[in-house]
Amino acid sequence: MDLAAILTRIGAEMQAAPDRGRVADYIPELARVSPDHFAMAICTAEGETFTTGEAETPFSIQSISKVFTLALALGRLGDQLWTRVGREPSGLAFNSILQLEHENGIPRNPFINAGALVVTDAILAGHKPREVLGELLRFLREAAGEDDIHINRAVAASEQATGHRNLALAHFMAAQGNLLHAPELTCGTYFHQCAIEMSTRQLARAGRFLMNAPGLPRMLGAARVRRINALMMTCGHYDGSGEFAYRVGLPGKSGVGGGILVIAPGRAAIAVWSPGLNAQGNSQLGTLAVERLARATGWSVFG
Ligand code: GLU
Repeated sequence: MDLAAILTRIGAEMQAAPDRGRVADYIPELARVSPDHFAMAICTAEGETFTTGEAETPFSIQSISKVFTLALALGRLGDQLWTRVGREPSGLAFNSILQLEHENGIPRNPFINAGALVVTDAILAGHKPREVLGELLRFLREAAGEDDIHINRAVAASEQATGHRNLALAHFMAAQGNLLHAPELTCGTYFHQCAIEMSTRQLARAGRFLMNAPGLPRMLGAARVRRINALMMTCGHYDGSGEFAYRVGLPGKSGVGGGILVIAPGRAAIAVWSPGLNAQGNSQLGTLAVERLARATGWSVFG
């Protein structure tokens, strides 16, 4: 299979695509990003890397960071984490507060904002925000095998200044007894984790441990990796998760910066970046590009 040719073709098709979606504007720093960017990268189980487009340009990984904080939390707390956050798709927007009131402040899953705040709150236990963010960056750098991965302070400050919904979620969960730290502390750490910047190529490399293939960085046991993949499949695209599973057939996690990390278990880690989003807050062209990649390669968890 000629992955280089497949990627080149998809890159050209995406540059010509008429509908690029809308860039997230509720975080002012993200609103400044042009919708015209496009990049895609594939790291195979055999150790090869293929890219197309602006694969070296760093972008804000936003909610894709939730995959890595979940990996850290599971490594540290194990299954105890599941007493504080569920494993069901929410069917609601990424920042919705609705379900918390009915379900005692236990968020449906670790990938919606409420659930991710609980995960960050859990890994903060006994640590300062600076230590947790340092550990997360070390995890990402080791997974990617590259050091040049950083937090964009301007994006973090922009989220901090406008993050009323996240603060509301955190306060609501604090009132319901499901937050260990002050909402400002947990949210402040969360805003910084979301503001991590990586290139598309670096993100694909950082995702290699999730394909559970021999000879690649092993950051977690195989059983945990499978379960993270299961959550990416069922919850990784918010209220667009079913649609993504139907169209692509692979586990993926999106972020409002327009990135998506997709895993073809045993075969490849794929990252795509196009900042324009669809109605559910997932990259419009990114989704189309991985749909075309899955069709061209035959990669699917459904055989
Ligand atoms: N930092 C964003 C927020 O909390 C992340 C959302 C996302 O990427 O989906 O609103």
